[in-house]
Amino acid sequence: MTESKKYPWHDSAWQHVQSMAEQERLPHALLILGQDGLDNDQLAKQIVTSILCLHPSTDFTACGLCHSCQLMSAESHPDHHIVAPEEAGKVIKVDQIRELISKQSLMPKISPAKTVIISQADQMNHNAFNSLLKLLEEPTNNTVLVLIANNSHALPITIKSRCQNLNIRTPDTDTAMQWLSLNQDQFSAEQCDVLLKMTNNSPLSALALGESGLEQYEQIMSGITLLMKVQANPIELTAQWQAFDPMVIMMQLQRLFETKISTLLKSPSTEQSQILRPYWAIVDCILHTMKLLSSKNNANTTLLMEDFMVAVMQQASVIRSHQK
Ligand SMILES: [Zn+2]
Repeated sequence: MTESKKYPWHDSAWQHVQSMAEQERLPHALLILGQDGLDNDQLAKQIVTSILCLHPSTDFTACGLCHSCQLMSAESHPDHHIVAPEEAGKVIKVDQIRELISKQSLMPKISPAKTVIISQADQMNHNAFNSLLKLLEEPTNNTVLVLIANNSHALPITIKSRCQNLNIRTPDTDTAMQWLSLNQDQFSAEQCDVLLKMTNNSPLSALALGESGLEQYEQIMSGITLLMKVQANPIELTAQWQAFDPMVIMMQLQRLFETKISTLLKSPSTEQSQILRPYWAIVDCILHTMKLLSSKNNANTTLLMEDFMVAVMQQASVIRSHQK
């Protein structure tokens, strides 16, 4: 079973775990950190399956055949527990952690150890964190906890410092591109490139976005063309873009304008140096809008987008005045 081959971006973390296991230095708590769309749950499952396996190979790979491995693939292993928010968008409750702690005194039934995966471990309130901290401070000998989180900043340092951290880096463009090309035959290389750009090189998110992502990309491109011609109606265009994630729109535009600026910088001329300033101003607008979008206090996305479009058109008319 070589599931690590499935996702090349997990390889280095998996090799690290393998080497710790080979030296019998596997810690009682691991924390997998990385952005969404990398299927880090799969890596966590791979690790616990190996820990629980009755006949793992010398390189810590689970056999895939034993009673424990069969129970893991049937998702009914009595020595393994999963903790996650009960509903999407909700936090892990303190009661869920307390229940987990109450199970820790039990001996493993089948495997040499017990395992716990805490998915979205950054989605916890203060009380739940405190309860979890107690568990991390007083580990039971034969239990390994694997925490998964994407927002490292939302985790208290006391939690992070008690876990062995495994940072999953988002794959570089070549790796992401190669994986995406091999794992679907629906999209051309050019379309794969667009999808990866829209998802910050996250191949699984790119795959999930698929056709609708490409349509979205085209619509945003034609919208921005209108804005740059100072011919857009911000209210109509905002309504049109409402179906899309505003953060994804901003990321697309950020890349677009940054590419434009780096092209301008490569071939300096009087005209180009004059239009650089408004292009920079547009990038500033994008960054400012992103900041407002990610702030929890901001409720009116519609107004924010309309303001953004007006600001872009102001800079676009400066650009056009230099190009005449
Ligand atoms: Zn096995």
